[in-house]
Amino acid sequence: MTTTITTTGTSTIPTQEVYMSQGERALARGTHYIEESIWVYLMRDWDGIDRWVLDPVTVDGCGLDSGLEDGARNSECMCEDQAECDAVRDRMDRAPLPSADDLLHLLAESLGYTLTRAAQR
Ligand SMILES: [Zn+2]
Repeated sequence: MTTTITTTGTSTIPTQEVYMSQGERALARGTHYIEESIWVYLMRDWDGIDRWVLDPVTVDGCGLDSGLEDGARNSECMCEDQAECDAVRDRMDRAPLPSADDLLHLLAESLGYTLTRAAQR
């Protein structure tokens, strides 16, 4: 799998970063802040050890379940075009949620890791 990382921003790093909510950041970019959340199911280790391991259903290749009762939401968006915002939210609500594999890549990109798949066992 090839993953492209796109970054935007300025070349100067502010010495004191002003806190901006994600809604404010989206507004500054002229876009919408649409939120979603996913469940990563855990279970107690089958070997009887008191530790959390991934429930196999988490890594079954399917998209992970939404953690939001009503799916994607735009309640924190600060835009002034509610109709467009709702349309974007509705589109995102129909977009497939990441699988565990997708989540792994999202985390790696965000945290600065490079992934290498181990040889198949
Ligand atoms: Zn919006």
